[in-house]
Amino acid sequence: MATVDLNDVRKVYAGGFEAVKGISIAIPDKALCVLVGPSGCGKSTLLRMIAGLETISAGTISIDGKVVNSIGPTDRDIAMVFQNYALYPHMSVYDNMAYGLRNRGTPKPEIDARVRATAKTLELDQLLDRKPRQLSGGQRQRVAMGRAIVRNPKVFLFDEPLSNLDAKLRGQMRVEIKNLQRNLGVTSVYVTHDQLEAMTLADMLVVMNGGLIEQVGAPMDIYEKPASTFVAAFIGAPPMNLLALTRDAQGRAMVAGAVLGGDVADNVAIVGLRPEDVVIATGDGQSPAFTLPVTVEAVEPVGMESFLHCAAGGVRIVVRVPGRSMASPGDHLEVTAGRDRLHFFDKDGKRV
Ligand code: ATP
Repeated sequence: MATVDLNDVRKVYAGGFEAVKGISIAIPDKALCVLVGPSGCGKSTLLRMIAGLETISAGTISIDGKVVNSIGPTDRDIAMVFQNYALYPHMSVYDNMAYGLRNRGTPKPEIDARVRATAKTLELDQLLDRKPRQLSGGQRQRVAMGRAIVRNPKVFLFDEPLSNLDAKLRGQMRVEIKNLQRNLGVTSVYVTHDQLEAMTLADMLVVMNGGLIEQVGAPMDIYEKPASTFVAAFIGAPPMNLLALTRDAQGRAMVAGAVLGGDVADNVAIVGLRPEDVVIATGDGQSPAFTLPVTVEAVEPVGMESFLHCAAGGVRIVVRVPGRSMASPGDHLEVTAGRDRLHFFDKDGKRV
């Protein structure tokens, strides 16, 4: 049982740069919390503070209800899995996994039992005598995971553990990590800049920007109701279309030169629309929020779907169509969207 609570945590580096500007999060027991955000947003700094590898300038971090600010990394009962695996090259897989337990003076038979059981779970049991250089990237990543698991810690911390793997392996390892974490039930904090990894892994997703939290929630709640244009553009690929809202002489709301039907609050400045919510008009009597003539500029087929990059009234809009698209660059189409698919933001980018 372990909760992780951050209370107004700040980090000011020597030299005065404030990398983390007051972050509060309550991570429930057994949850997998993913910190996601662009490079430099402070997510690794925050993780390193939880690990005890970085001092905390202000605020408190508690593990299992106990403030750990002044407790050293080895006494926090956490295990960290790094991007570069941090394996000892001269040691076998077995010794790499046993290392932490030996350091703690765990009795030899117990070490042996724990290493072998963990190796079995991770399908490393045939590789225990190998050195890291004799392993594939995915196997090395598993050893790094194994080394964390054998210690049976209260909390796992993951610092971009999959970023050195190719796309296919990353996909496989993502599923493995999710299953492992769920089966072991160990509270985990996972840092990534990859929104897909974040969406698929997280029970609790924390979107960070510039040392602050933009939004916290379940991944699909964030996807469906982004709190800001930053989140709307960061979560989802291709990102949400963000179109400026203007008013015509009669005060009607307009996007990309088309009238937007229905009432639109005065403070709306930006209209968001996910590529999958833009529909090619069929003229079958539906009553969309707007109808927009567009010109196809590029077609991107990615297998099960295609993305049409279109121009409309001086703006660009990406449209997702299932399967293979019949459209070609230069085609003129009309696109529409249902009123309930629109997202509204004010001039500061906050959801209205
Ligand atoms: P990335 O995805 O690139 O790893 P990140 O979100 O993990 O980025 P951090 O590594 O936490 O970002 O860094 C946050 C900010 O703090 C960055 O602007 C970085 O330059 C700065 N920073 C990191 N370490 C130090 C340091 N030791 N001294 C001063 N500034 C630092």
